[in-house]
Amino acid sequence: MNFQAITERFKNMMQQKAKGLSNASQPPESFPFYHQIRQLSQEPWTYEDPELQDMAMSVLPLEKLFEEATKRENDGNGLWGYQDYLIQSLLSWFKHEFFSWVNSPKCESCQSDTHLIGASRPNAEESFQGCNNVEVYQCNTCSHQQRFPRYNKVRPLLHSRKGRCGEWACCFTFLCRALGSRARWVWNAEDHVWTEVYSFKQNRWVHVDSCEESFDQPLIYEQGWGKKMSYCIGFSIDSVRDVSSRYIRNPENGNPRNRCPEYVIEHVIRSLNEEFRSPLTADDRSKLLDEDKREKEELLSYRKQEDVTSALPARQTGSDDWKRVRGEGGK
Ligand SMILES: [Zn+2]
Repeated sequence: MNFQAITERFKNMMQQKAKGLSNASQPPESFPFYHQIRQLSQEPWTYEDPELQDMAMSVLPLEKLFEEATKRENDGNGLWGYQDYLIQSLLSWFKHEFFSWVNSPKCESCQSDTHLIGASRPNAEESFQGCNNVEVYQCNTCSHQQRFPRYNKVRPLLHSRKGRCGEWACCFTFLCRALGSRARWVWNAEDHVWTEVYSFKQNRWVHVDSCEESFDQPLIYEQGWGKKMSYCIGFSIDSVRDVSSRYIRNPENGNPRNRCPEYVIEHVIRSLNEEFRSPLTADDRSKLLDEDKREKEELLSYRKQEDVTSALPARQTGSDDWKRVRGEGGK
């Protein structure tokens, strides 16, 4: 090999490496992130349980929500449809009347403030209810110790009605499904989760964050909270998508996407969509493919846009210390 050829070969190698393709021959299954995405994709399927959806009907104040949606539609500018207004009404009720945010729970004995003293394994009952970890708090006044089990399953959350972003997004996304909307549970690698609802009026997936009562404000994290992000992946029962560019408009300021080469993510998302859609009719599958194309164009268009700095709110939920630790304390 002459010098020119070997130089060319080395340059190519470096380019491939920079693109994260140096291991292109490595099977996607050999990356832990592949399996993590597959596991995360199971979340929306848990919302399809008919018994849970019946429970939702008994919990939701249907009359109030539908009345509120009608009012919003009458006052609206025609940009959104009734379905969108119903989700907005749900969002408001969910945040202000149904669910509550817990930084540290009040003492169950004397109602004083508590502080975190450690973690514990879930007991049998907590495990059965889908609890993965338990935080242990001690009362600042009477020293009473109590457990705060973190649930990531709908059933216990419909009863406890409290938690942080994980609990909020799980329960809220489920309720959107129960009200008949197509809904995605969106997972972010930097420990946040939220919802996307498909707007039939606008023919696109719309960002919804129940913790923040935020509707169609996808830049709230990057530009409002100053959050650094790498991956945002949306999961529904018929549409899995890497939606990162909807939320991360300025990737240079975000966190690096270094969990695996990009072809691994493309592969796992493509195969999940094929699996999830295989029971559907050819007609439905073809509609979803059209939708994929539209969304792909939408997501690509954000790459070309300039940084849109508008006045987005700082994070509302969570204590100041907690937000700072998570890098969500605003710019
Ligand atoms: Zn106490």
